[in-house]
Amino acid sequence: MAHITDLGVTELRDGIAKGDFSAREVAENFIAATDAGKSLNSFITLTPDHALAKADKADKARVAGTLKPLSGVPLGIKDLFCTNGYRTTAASKILDNFIPPYESSITEKLFSAGAGMIGKLNLDQFAMGSSNETSAFGNVISPWKRKGDNVDITPGGSSGGSAAAVSARLIPAATGTDTGGSIRQPASFTGIAGIKPTYGRCSRYGVIAFASSLDQAGPMARSVKDCAALLEVMAGFDPKDSTSIDVAVPDWEKLLSSDLKGKTIGIPKEYRVDGMADEIEKLWQHGIKMMQDAGAKIVEVSLPHTHYALSAYYIIAPAEASSNLARYDGVRYGERVTPENGNLVDMYSATRAAGFGYEVKRRIMIGTYVLSAGFYDAYYIKSQKVRALIARDFETAFQKCDLLLTPATPTAAFGLGEKQDDPLSMYLNDVFTVPASLAGLPAMTVPVGLNEKGLPLGLQLIGKPLDEQGVLNAGLALEERAGFTSLPEKWW
Ligand code: GLN
Repeated sequence: MAHITDLGVTELRDGIAKGDFSAREVAENFIAATDAGKSLNSFITLTPDHALAKADKADKARVAGTLKPLSGVPLGIKDLFCTNGYRTTAASKILDNFIPPYESSITEKLFSAGAGMIGKLNLDQFAMGSSNETSAFGNVISPWKRKGDNVDITPGGSSGGSAAAVSARLIPAATGTDTGGSIRQPASFTGIAGIKPTYGRCSRYGVIAFASSLDQAGPMARSVKDCAALLEVMAGFDPKDSTSIDVAVPDWEKLLSSDLKGKTIGIPKEYRVDGMADEIEKLWQHGIKMMQDAGAKIVEVSLPHTHYALSAYYIIAPAEASSNLARYDGVRYGERVTPENGNLVDMYSATRAAGFGYEVKRRIMIGTYVLSAGFYDAYYIKSQKVRALIARDFETAFQKCDLLLTPATPTAAFGLGEKQDDPLSMYLNDVFTVPASLAGLPAMTVPVGLNEKGLPLGLQLIGKPLDEQGVLNAGLALEERAGFTSLPEKWW
């Protein structure tokens, strides 16, 4: 039999139910793996007590015949989700010692469904970044290496800890959040699957806010099926989040089908961007063939405003961030710095100067600038108009097709430090993920192959609002045909 840490969420769930192994064994094996994988720096806080307590509960539930959908499955939780009684930092010094007195709705749902928590995962500070290099708790290192050199590779960001830990088999799956690509880009950099559902599917209650009109939670896991099983638990109406959608959650896992007969897949021509690597173009063509093989019809579609998506995102997201992060003033949360002979304003300034990292400060400055009286119309309002046009582009495209197939990222993962001094080239990473975020659409990335250097590459599927099933089904069709089984060589 495979080693326990080789198993994913649904395999663990089914194995526990059948009695192939106990939930305690599962938890102990993954706790040992996280200990052995410490050099990847994927966790900020380890919580083995939580995982073990949940495991013992699961083993009792098995005997009593009261197993729940995720009983005994240990998960990693991105350290952006508030966890009652467990430190939650957003990877920032300003929340270094913050212990939430309440539970996020997503973790509440996961834990009520029987899942345990192995630890809180590292991320880009306040989820701002594409490489996990903005964390105040150090870079996360991808378990993958480029062939021919020993340079540390980024796992992507902002859910870099989630991606690294899942791909290194330290945990079977993790939660992520995605504001402009933070589930999809790291998943595709590390050879795992991840889905960002329709905006409003997953509650944002208790998820530390970055850009509220964009933030969505979702699962990152080893297979499309595992993503479906987790998303079923995570999604659902929540009266505590005013943007939560009150619609039923389908049985995504049960309804999975990789038969795409009768489906039309759109290929947006504007996603063929300048400077896109040849290997990405090849991968995309390969994906198109796999979709045809699954029975889908392929059409070319146009999303004419794609070109403006990144600029609009990097105005709207910082604008919302600057407003959301105003609450960290040294009075109510975490860190406080009190300069000698200083007044209240001096305390605010000193606290924020010491507590926030450079990227967070950059975003707050950009955000306050674009919201300032003199520039509001020129930047913020203009971006909102562009956002509406981008959403309309998708609506028009979806009159001709059911789903869109695009690359996940313009390149494979890069080396740590290679882009850190060049924010623009860092922001370019998000060119394929940001449009679906601006339009609030469900989108998923699936690993499809390795590049010449042996690093994973993924493709993205974008669906109509609330059509997670369509996205998951096409994801499954890709997964089955790509047969991506590569794993990073163990060096940690
Ligand atoms: N990389 C993007 C950014 O830096 C997206 C981050 C995210 O989705 N949280 O804003």
